[in-house]
Amino acid sequence: MSKVKYYYDPDTLSYRKIEPRKSRRYRNIALFFLGSFLFGFLGLILLLNTNLVNTPRELSLAREVKNYELQFEFLGKKMEQIENVLANIEDRDNNIYRLYFEANPIPEEQRRAGFGGVNRYKSLEGFNNSEMIISTTKRLDIIQKQMVIQSKSLDEITKLAEEKEKLLAAIPAIQPIKNEDLARMASGYGWRSDPFTKARKMHWGMDFTSPKGTPIYASGDGTITRADNNASGYGKHIRIDHGYGYMSLYGHLSQYNVKSRQKVKRGDLIGFVGSTGRSEAPHLHYEVWKDDERINPINFYYGSLTAEEFENMLKYATQENQSLD
Ligand SMILES: [Zn+2]
Repeated sequence: MSKVKYYYDPDTLSYRKIEPRKSRRYRNIALFFLGSFLFGFLGLILLLNTNLVNTPRELSLAREVKNYELQFEFLGKKMEQIENVLANIEDRDNNIYRLYFEANPIPEEQRRAGFGGVNRYKSLEGFNNSEMIISTTKRLDIIQKQMVIQSKSLDEITKLAEEKEKLLAAIPAIQPIKNEDLARMASGYGWRSDPFTKARKMHWGMDFTSPKGTPIYASGDGTITRADNNASGYGKHIRIDHGYGYMSLYGHLSQYNVKSRQKVKRGDLIGFVGSTGRSEAPHLHYEVWKDDERINPINFYYGSLTAEEFENMLKYATQENQSLD
């Protein structure tokens, strides 16, 4: 209610009402509306700046962010599975493959190392979810590095396996005379009585008694270094260089089937049993050398003998009988 104003009229000696002018009334009404509008507008702005009321766009953005967070959580779980599988592969790599091929295990710190130096994650900083995004990216980077290291390790093992395969093919591993052609294993490696002098003497190989002309086979892959009659005692003999420090020797042959410098594979026919050189009867004198030392050939037949046959041979080979030289 607007204040009623009066003025003193000296003519009538009384107070009279001041009638407000129409224009003033309109101005008051306009001011009232303007004030109300401004007040309401300020209130609205204040309200929107608090979190009490969200616009539909804000609501949809918030939902989207929630969805991203959920997706990151799933990703985290999947990465955990990958990390577990990788850890398992690395464990086998270190404790089986690398161990088997005598390679040093790759240390844990080296496999799990992140990236040092410049901050690779700078561009990801300064957001609400920076921590989550950076930690996920870091984990992925480490997984990626682990995979590279694992892959390199497997390359190395493949190489080592190929080497090992070559080594296994090279070293003497079969009996140089077939079991069915063998009359008997006459004498083994060790102290034996000499067939000529009857004195006790070291016998550096194994004697296989067989008829003259029985085929003799290479006991491992290699190169023929000698096939001649120029070494005292051995008569016509063959030597095969197998590499890796191994050499095999076949003595008292009647005939050669190979020439010097020829390459042979395990099981190739190289010559025939005879009794040339210092020999009492047709037989093959077989020696295995490692790093220029003659070693017991009994340990180099695992490629051809059954357990029972090996047992039998061992019995004969260890008997202190007379060698055929
Ligand atoms: Zn002998």
